[in-house]
Amino acid sequence: MKINLLDFDLAGLVAFCEQLGEKRFRAVQLFRWIHQKGASDFDAMTDLARSLRQQLPALCRVSGLPQLSRQESVDGTIKWLFDVGAGNAIETVFIPEPDRGTLCISSQAGCAVGCRFCSTGHQGFSRNLSVAEIVAQLWQAEFFLRQHLGRSERVITNVVLMGMGEPLQNYAALLPVLRVLLDDHGYGLSRRRVTVSTSGVVPMMDRLAQDCPVALAVSLHAPNDALRTALVPLNRKYPLAELLDACARYLPAAPRDFITLEYCMLDGVNDQPEHALELLALLKQRALPCKINLIPFNPFPDAGLRRSSRAAVLHFAQILNEGGLVTTVRKTRGDDIDAACGQLAGDVRDRTHAVQRLAQRRRASEQPLHFHASTPR
Ligand code: SAH
Ligand code: SF4
Repeated sequence: MKINLLDFDLAGLVAFCEQLGEKRFRAVQLFRWIHQKGASDFDAMTDLARSLRQQLPALCRVSGLPQLSRQESVDGTIKWLFDVGAGNAIETVFIPEPDRGTLCISSQAGCAVGCRFCSTGHQGFSRNLSVAEIVAQLWQAEFFLRQHLGRSERVITNVVLMGMGEPLQNYAALLPVLRVLLDDHGYGLSRRRVTVSTSGVVPMMDRLAQDCPVALAVSLHAPNDALRTALVPLNRKYPLAELLDACARYLPAAPRDFITLEYCMLDGVNDQPEHALELLALLKQRALPCKINLIPFNPFPDAGLRRSSRAAVLHFAQILNEGGLVTTVRKTRGDDIDAACGQLAGDVRDRTHAVQRLAQRRRASEQPLHFHASTPR
């Protein structure tokens, strides 16, 4: 298999080009063609020396992921399902807002953390995605959207690693991915516009602070260890006190002066006023600069959990806000296409079969499939 150039950050591409006897500026040109113009055809890269253009196709390629489906919600949210082989599919979601366009990308096929309320967690862990597989989600989405929306300038202004998988358990791939996102010759995103969301892999939070401190969101979900361990099994290894210490250590390097704490609201489980008061006490005692984002639980088949009532969510937010913690409630977007947090994998068995069926049909017709929001699943 030829090398996929989406696997390289700029330093990697420079090394690759040097092996071919090419200077650094050639790698910069190539990198810009790929990530700023969306080019995959070396022949179209007109400012590269002809000899290099002729040499490249035999050695490498620029290829995205096979698309199994693309659905568009009535609210403009777009969800892609990409095939990553062996019956595994990953999802990528674009969320347009008036002042920005956010892309939510996946870092793993499945996830080993196994959170109680997460459909990806229920699915189990398949494998880490490669750098190319993670970068391809942005590359494909950005250049599709420019065409789709008739825009010549950048459409995706923010990237969040909040799709499938635990990004800090795929650290070796995460770092080059972040460098491609931040590189001025790549997507040129500022560190505050790239967010890594983690269930709390403490040692890797410290590494990230050193290596590439982007904005950080930590999935908290509970105000005490007993409840958090029941919801996020990783809490056994890295309990709340250690996790909050790690958040405090991250802050001096962080591009924002607060950490976002995510809290998935589960009816009767972690959404009671006493939970809000306990959380308030915990965070006040620590004096951790943070903002809390309440995420109403998005149900999926066999979850055995319910979304908190609107009233419970608002009351919870009110207690925290009145106590001095800035708290927001996440809007659910793309509900009609199951594009909300934690719904990404869909039902595991159905999903696997659906992926196989779709892949067969795609191979048979060689047509990219396009599902509209109204298509029944
Ligand atoms: N593994 C990372 C990032 C992916 S999950 C993490 O856990 O942070 C992204 C966010 O979606 C997390 O805050 C997660 O708790 C939340 N989430 C997962 N399943 C959900 C569901 N069913 N409903 C609402 N939020 C969910
Ligand atoms: Fe993994 Fe995050 Fe889902 Fe937990 S919430 S299972 S860490 S993807």
